[in-house]
Amino acid sequence: MMSRVCFYCRESAGFFARVCADCKKLLARVEQLRGKVSYGQFLDGLEQTGVSKEKILRFLQADPEGKGSIQDQVTAEMTSELMRVMGISGRQTAQEVKRIRDSVGKESE
Ligand SMILES: [Zn+2]
Repeated sequence: MMSRVCFYCRESAGFFARVCADCKKLLARVEQLRGKVSYGQFLDGLEQTGVSKEKILRFLQADPEGKGSIQDQVTAEMTSELMRVMGISGRQTAQEVKRIRDSVGKESE
């Protein structure tokens, strides 16, 4: 019998599991924290699960569903929230955030 590999960190997830115990813990914490805290507090919250920093980074940068890594998704959400607080109108989608970032980059060239 073969043990399966975790969707996120690519370590052994154990039999029948798609996500290992550590990443399950991290996913639950992401759901608790997203939209409520700053990025620093978000990372602190993930570290409080006791999972190693290296594994947390791998987890954040994994993109198992092809819709952007957890890090990208959370960054887009936080940027949207910041824009709302600052009174910038318009649709605050991940694409819009990227477009703004690209145009700012071009201006500074
Ligand atoms: Zn994992």
